[in-house]
Amino acid sequence: MLKFIGSGSAFNTKLGNNSAYYKVGNQMLLIDCGSNIFHRIKENNLLEGIEHIHVLITHTHADHVGSLADFIFYCYYCHGEMAKPNVSVYSAYDVKIEELLAINGIMPGVQCFIKKCQSDTQYTLNFCKVLFERSSHVKEIPSYSIELSIDDKLIYYTGDTNYLKESLRNPKVFDFVYVDTCKADYEGNVHLSLRKLSELVSPDERSKFWCMHVDEGFDRQEAETLGFNVVTNEFLTF
Ligand SMILES: [Zn+2]
Repeated sequence: MLKFIGSGSAFNTKLGNNSAYYKVGNQMLLIDCGSNIFHRIKENNLLEGIEHIHVLITHTHADHVGSLADFIFYCYYCHGEMAKPNVSVYSAYDVKIEELLAINGIMPGVQCFIKKCQSDTQYTLNFCKVLFERSSHVKEIPSYSIELSIDDKLIYYTGDTNYLKESLRNPKVFDFVYVDTCKADYEGNVHLSLRKLSELVSPDERSKFWCMHVDEGFDRQEAETLGFNVVTNEFLTF
């Protein structure tokens, strides 16, 4: 359903930062824009035919927002009509995206639009519905999961998390669950290990789950043998 520019964790340079997208006509939805994502978007011509980009931000770790300012400046100056904003950034109200962009020299309303969302409240974008829900990640900054409704499909995108809420373990209403999964498995891990995911989700439910944000030690085959899916990057060239 969603396509991925990168599917790796912060230090997984091979798979790139985790970032998903979905295109409808001349509109594009982008989830997060980590340090190496702008580069990959540009090198792979992903903006071709796109006139407006809706960027959903889960949290402000660099592997999720590191190239957001570059991306916005590029769209403002080099994509579409010169000096006309064509990016809207959406985040939960307590994610400090305005501050982050301000220190990068971006003025909301000038180079981009910023939409602050209440958590647990559904918002309608022109081709989908979006809801931010607090996730369990780190104590320093707020982090969110995203519930998305596109084309009658209900999608849950965990963002960074080390926990899977009860209702997702038997995800009757969801068609796709994209989940932060890693090989690393230790007490205090801020991501969800494949071992823990396997304990939480019964084999019958696993076909709806798509592992993403995987670390370098992650074994795709092991996850697939357990019955989970693993996302793949859309582009081979970086
Ligand atoms: Zn994170």
